[in-house]
Amino acid sequence: MPCHDIAVVTLDNPPLNSLDHALRVRIVSALTAAQADPAIRAIVLTGSERAFSAGADVTEFGTPRQFAEPILRSVLEQVRHSSKPVVAAIDGVALGGGLELALACHGRVATRRAKVGLPEVTLGLIPGSGGTQRLPRLAGIDVALGLMLGGTQKTASEFVDTSLFDRVVEGHLLDAACACAAELADAGAPWPHADRIHLDPGYVSTKVSLARQRLNARQRLQPAYAALLDAVAASAGPMDEGLALERSLFLGLIGSTEARALRHQFKAERESARLPDALQVAPRPVSTVAVIGAGTMGTGIAICALDAGLDVILVEQDDAALSRGRHRVADHYAARVSAGKLDEHAAVAVQARLLPTIDWQAIGRADLVIEAVFEELSVKQDVFRRLDAVARPGAVLATNTSYLDIDTIAAVTSRPQDVLGLHFFSPANVMKLLEVIRSRDTAADVLATGMALGRTLRKSPVLCGNAFGFIGNRVYNAYRRQCEFMLEDGAWPEDVDRALTAFGVAMGPFAVADLSGLDIAWRMRLAQAATRDPRERHVPVLAQLCEQGRMGQKSGAGYYRYTDGQRAPSTDETVRGLIEQASAARGLQRHALKADEIVRRALLAMVNEAACLHADGVSSRPGDIDVVLVQGYGFPRWQGGPVFWAREQDRKQLLAELRELVAAGGRGMRLADEAALALLLD
Ligand code: NAD
Repeated sequence: MPCHDIAVVTLDNPPLNSLDHALRVRIVSALTAAQADPAIRAIVLTGSERAFSAGADVTEFGTPRQFAEPILRSVLEQVRHSSKPVVAAIDGVALGGGLELALACHGRVATRRAKVGLPEVTLGLIPGSGGTQRLPRLAGIDVALGLMLGGTQKTASEFVDTSLFDRVVEGHLLDAACACAAELADAGAPWPHADRIHLDPGYVSTKVSLARQRLNARQRLQPAYAALLDAVAASAGPMDEGLALERSLFLGLIGSTEARALRHQFKAERESARLPDALQVAPRPVSTVAVIGAGTMGTGIAICALDAGLDVILVEQDDAALSRGRHRVADHYAARVSAGKLDEHAAVAVQARLLPTIDWQAIGRADLVIEAVFEELSVKQDVFRRLDAVARPGAVLATNTSYLDIDTIAAVTSRPQDVLGLHFFSPANVMKLLEVIRSRDTAADVLATGMALGRTLRKSPVLCGNAFGFIGNRVYNAYRRQCEFMLEDGAWPEDVDRALTAFGVAMGPFAVADLSGLDIAWRMRLAQAATRDPRERHVPVLAQLCEQGRMGQKSGAGYYRYTDGQRAPSTDETVRGLIEQASAARGLQRHALKADEIVRRALLAMVNEAACLHADGVSSRPGDIDVVLVQGYGFPRWQGGPVFWAREQDRKQLLAELRELVAAGGRGMRLADEAALALLLD
């Protein structure tokens, strides 16, 4: 339909129309021109197929450009008070400030597939340009709270029962938007606007209180959630008062440690998913993946490859093990179907791409092979010898080893350049982290293939050097050892776990140990015992617990006791006795440790190890270490990671505390010197 008397203003800032200063200036001037043109009676604001607008330009945050006029609020005021009706025509995404711009318009038309969201809480913020006031008015308080607290995106078709969109269309978006604009112009002022909708104060207050009670422990530790609810509560009052409150809450959050930490993570995740420039080459194409070993990890990896649309060959050593693996995959999809998360046809179609087999010749079709068999060097070497014989030339061969040396595994093949580590985390179909490990001979395009696979699987791939524990397990082991030292010094497991969960870790280290089983660490420590310096500080409690058959939750007891099959831990006097004996054997006078001392020591241990491994070249960028800890080890995202935390500390004091920590750690604990710390933190 002709739009001759309707001005179509197209946001044009690829790829996602982020509302940076230059775009804001262009919108204002286009609106001003359209408002002044007597031949124009209405305005349509639109974007591209990919994005109406993905919102603020995060790189502007904290710079003067963010607050340079016209700020987004001024653009929105111009829309709100326009002398001609303004209609948003939305395709692709409308997120954050992008959605707020649409909310300030007099009408909204969207394609069914368009996606909207106000994900500011995921950056430690709240919407700062009217989102908390207008979304509840237009979409209803329940929908608005769900969308904002979840930080999620929803498609426009899910809002048909609300007043958010005037029309949701299959195609011809601009025609529909122009028709909507023409109708508004015909009807004459005053045009409909969110500001004229009034919500029931009692209902809003009830819903906000309920949402406040339902915040989980980790949300309660982040100020943005409470601020968001305060702002939404004001949506039942006058618009200008609500907008003023929202703005002041937003400004209070923008410089907060949490918001800066979340921006740091956001940036670090983007960077870590890219190889350093020197290694940038085209990846090898991958459409079929073979997974060797259908145990815990192998089946998780197979599921996540299937979900990403790849063909998967799942290989086991015998029929019984294969059948167990096949059932595990089938049970997973059945559970998703019965939870309503996947329809039955889709589940059948996904599993049709899975080929479970014990025939190794099938591996010849794979572009990439991931080995996930037992953590034993000889077993893995044997698997790689066999892979060398059956994999096609150019196929990428990966091991999911947690600790073994990848050079030694690659050395048994005739093609070490095609071998790398792909270290998934458990559950592999859920955890976002993927450590991509470069061994001595790994070719650049093989690394690029590993990183590209990580992105295909929707993971955060991080490049690591081939060193014991790579990045994550190395830092985590240092942290865990430090927590064991604290037991000897005077803390109980529950003191340590409580202090660290109050800091924000998903689970305390002793609860994690009980959940994953103490035997894994015990076996490793037994293997290391032969080469360990006897003067090294070594806490015997874990080994003693294992000797008593206390392997953690699975055996009903570990650092805690789990009675009647319960997962909830309770304190155990036997453990306390062992800890007291360990303190006495080391000649330590036990003393209570305060929560902040516990947290600080745990963080210092991580920072010390992070600086050592970065100096050794195991990580290529300091931010990569933070991504690993947050994505793979439950480090609170809003605390940024150990590197972010260390950068917030006074450097001199940090060095002094690290020296003290390492001295107390005794022989064998390496100190990150000033140069290593500078490399990590500057
Ligand atoms: P698992 O014991 O659950 O599974 C191993 C599977 O490999 C078994 O089903 C076994 O039958 C199969 N297998 C053994 N030898 C084989 C062979 N020659 N050919 C084919 N299949 C064979 O072990 P898992 O926990 O899945 O661990 C597998 C690997 O992943 C290990 O290297 C481990 O270190 C690593 N990993 C484990 C975790 C974890 O949390 N479980 C996390 C990261 C990495």
